[in-house]
Amino acid sequence: MTAVLASATASRLQAPTLLTLGSAVRANVERVREATDARVMAVVKADGYGHGAVAVAAAALAAGADWLGVTDAADAAELRAAGLDAPILAWLNPSGVDAAQAAADRVDIAVGSVEELRQLAADAVAPVRVHLHVDTGMARGGCPVEDWAELLRVARGARDRIEVVGVMGHLPRADEADPSANAAAVLRMRHARDAVLRAGFGPLLVHLAATSGALTDPSTHFDLVRVGAGLVGIDPSGTVALHGASRLTAAVVHSAHVRAGTEVGYGATYVTPHDTALSVVGLGYADGIPRELEEGAGVEIGGTRHPIVGRVSMDQIVVDTGGVVFPRGTTATVFGPEGGAVPSVQEWARWARTIPHTIVTGIGPRVQRSMA
Ligand SMILES: *Cc1c(COP(=O)(O)O)cnc(C)c1O
Repeated sequence: MTAVLASATASRLQAPTLLTLGSAVRANVERVREATDARVMAVVKADGYGHGAVAVAAAALAAGADWLGVTDAADAAELRAAGLDAPILAWLNPSGVDAAQAAADRVDIAVGSVEELRQLAADAVAPVRVHLHVDTGMARGGCPVEDWAELLRVARGARDRIEVVGVMGHLPRADEADPSANAAAVLRMRHARDAVLRAGFGPLLVHLAATSGALTDPSTHFDLVRVGAGLVGIDPSGTVALHGASRLTAAVVHSAHVRAGTEVGYGATYVTPHDTALSVVGLGYADGIPRELEEGAGVEIGGTRHPIVGRVSMDQIVVDTGGVVFPRGTTATVFGPEGGAVPSVQEWARWARTIPHTIVTGIGPRVQRSMA
């Protein structure tokens, strides 16, 4: 009875939270706009790179982005429902395109194969706005150059149902920050665009670059740059310091002194070398903490960075706090923009031998999203 009462009255801990910083997203859009005269598409696929698609989109539009980009046309419904009115492009559509819904949501569709274009033309009830997607050199989506003439022939034949408004490509090597690595793709893009114009379409919105190209190579900008990672503070080229747009926090759920020689976590992979204190933080690999981490990984608690010790569990990690016991409910910061004791997303990527994108898009569904 007493135990039940005690748990019922226990203070509620702060749930794991990913806070998206609107001011950082806005500053990052402004930084991109300094680098280009082209229009800016805010790419908010994968739920805004894990940060919340509507939150990131709204902040980007407020800072002067003109377009929104998503992978799947169905993702546009959420953006429209939130009252966002900007033009939207969807370019992969793994679950197919509901042509009527796309028209209703005013979504432009990128089409990268003759077969997809035929299907879309067959399904269209109202004219669908289409961006023809050419493979500019990565063999990962986009119409092979050999099929481009056939794609244009099909598009011409479906002019009552297909309105060609854009041409897109994608850069495979822009993160090298070396314009010569993009030159072949830029040339393919120009040839593809010229063929579309010769086929009688136009005016066209031409777009090739994502974040790296936008920040490092003006020859890739054409009419529009598609920026996703950059919105949330990730420059894949590693050449521009953008503003970290997120802070991941969770509560200390347990903290205690332990003796030297204490085995920590599954498999006892860590044994305390001396007397110390451990804190358990309430998030784990189900929440996006990578299970394979190099030594040095840590979180900030009380203004100091403390190492993660032992195995990462499904919903908890253990931190060696060097003798300090923190009250239950103390906030641990997993990553954030401030630097110093607070790890960055880039540091997490290094510890997990991955790229920052997988860290932010891996944040699990239990983590509450909020916007500041
Ligand atoms: C994801 C994606 C982008 C955005 O790339 P970032 O490097 O995150 O800016 C742009 N275009 C296409 C086709 C994409 O798939």
